[in-house]
Amino acid sequence: MAEQRRDAERDAEQVRIRAELVATARRTVADGLVVGTSGNVSARVGDLVLVTPSGLPYDRLTPDHITGVDLTGRQVLGTLVPTSELPMHLAVYRTTDARAVVHTHAVHATAVSTLVPELPLVHYMAAALGGPVRVAPYATYGTDELAGNMLRALAGRSGCLLQNHGTLTYGTTLDQAYDRTAQLEWMCRLWLTASSVPGLTPSLLTEAQLAEVGERLREYGQRR
Ligand SMILES: [Zn+2]
Repeated sequence: MAEQRRDAERDAEQVRIRAELVATARRTVADGLVVGTSGNVSARVGDLVLVTPSGLPYDRLTPDHITGVDLTGRQVLGTLVPTSELPMHLAVYRTTDARAVVHTHAVHATAVSTLVPELPLVHYMAAALGGPVRVAPYATYGTDELAGNMLRALAGRSGCLLQNHGTLTYGTTLDQAYDRTAQLEWMCRLWLTASSVPGLTPSLLTEAQLAEVGERLREYGQRR
């Protein structure tokens, strides 16, 4: 009986997460973070990773289209092919406590990824991503090489940029992973805006200033 109840609870959670995945995917399009089929989102339920399929525009995506793979990438749910960027999603789940991953080709973030190896510290919200956001060196999409570069850029962070490609963030919920992507894109836009004023250079925060904010954010999180 207990086992049946656990199965029923897991099924109910899966149904809820499928709907959340569709809602999050649509949000990335509505907020301009993704154009066409260029992003993907996933969430982990136990040892199952639910992920958006490859090549289906988000306006046509329904919860039934969501695919499921195990942590080795073997497909266990759905008839469509999982996103080709699955290796990055799986690498995050295998090495962190992530429960959700959002990947986009957001325009300002991708622009910054072509200019610098790390997003300059223009705003203290970098602390919400664990510190200065690094850029993972370029590798072909969908490859283990890209997943490896991404993991190194993610060390101690919950988000990174992918050179000449886009963004990747993770969180304990889809909302948190999504919010981190939105914050990252906003910070990249801020830096591009500030650094494009002719003859002037934006002031930057120090690592110590950022660490102080990180401390505050942690206390704030604990109080809630
Ligand atoms: Zn991509």
